[in-house]
Amino acid sequence: MSKAKRLALGHIIGLSLFHIALIYYFPAQKFTFLSLLAGFIMYQVKILGITIGYHRLYTHRAFTANNALKFIFALMGTLAGQGPLSRWVNHHWEHHRYCEQDKDPHSPVVNSFWYAHIGWLTNPESFDDEKVRKQKLNLTPAVQFLDDHFNLVFLTQLPIFYFLGHVIENNGWGWVYTAFLASTVLSLHSTFLVNSLCHVFGKKDYETGDESRNNLLVAILTNGEGWHNNHHAQPNSAVHGWNKGQLDITFLIIKFFEKLGYVSNVKYPKL
Ligand SMILES: [Zn+2]
Ligand SMILES: [Zn+2]
Repeated sequence: MSKAKRLALGHIIGLSLFHIALIYYFPAQKFTFLSLLAGFIMYQVKILGITIGYHRLYTHRAFTANNALKFIFALMGTLAGQGPLSRWVNHHWEHHRYCEQDKDPHSPVVNSFWYAHIGWLTNPESFDDEKVRKQKLNLTPAVQFLDDHFNLVFLTQLPIFYFLGHVIENNGWGWVYTAFLASTVLSLHSTFLVNSLCHVFGKKDYETGDESRNNLLVAILTNGEGWHNNHHAQPNSAVHGWNKGQLDITFLIIKFFEKLGYVSNVKYPKL
């Protein structure tokens, strides 16, 4: 079996298992304030790892960060279970480069809404080296380790949350359910909505030559990535929600770290 087919099959199995487990184990859960809090915190960690780390820092180089922060953001993104950083970045470069064309990995204009949302991850062509450019990223050794061992790093959450939940309130599986399983599946779908809903439904403030939209719901779910039409207009800007009323929590966090002196060269839209 080719590597591309293996990766597609791995996604089919992994995504199915996570969704089935989320539904199947729901009735058996002992939801507590602390288990729900752990789930909420891990949802935010995963979303911010993708928005600040995978997307704005590593894909678009919208700002620079010191090595410690670079590692922390890459680690947070790795915990989201969206695959290795280098693959995510390459897919996203293809999305911007060939937006709404055949080589766009996830366009609801070329394919269906469902395909752009999740189906593309089950298609071997999405992992075909011939079709998807594979540019090497210049990663620090620590981040390269995360990239090489992303599945192992991702799965370490399971024993960690079992242990924490068990020690803190004798609710190990409850914590695994919220902080590992639910936070992963929900943050996956929030990210997927940027690829699907934000290219179908919302406001088009800028003529970008594609179908990208600004969508408030997705902006809330993803801490600011829903201002996707803005993003396609100015891909390298560290701020996505620059117009009045467009809350962009991801950018506020980037500004916070800039004030502390850990982040520099923050890029702004050239309008
Ligand atoms: Zn897009
Ligand atoms: Zn982008």
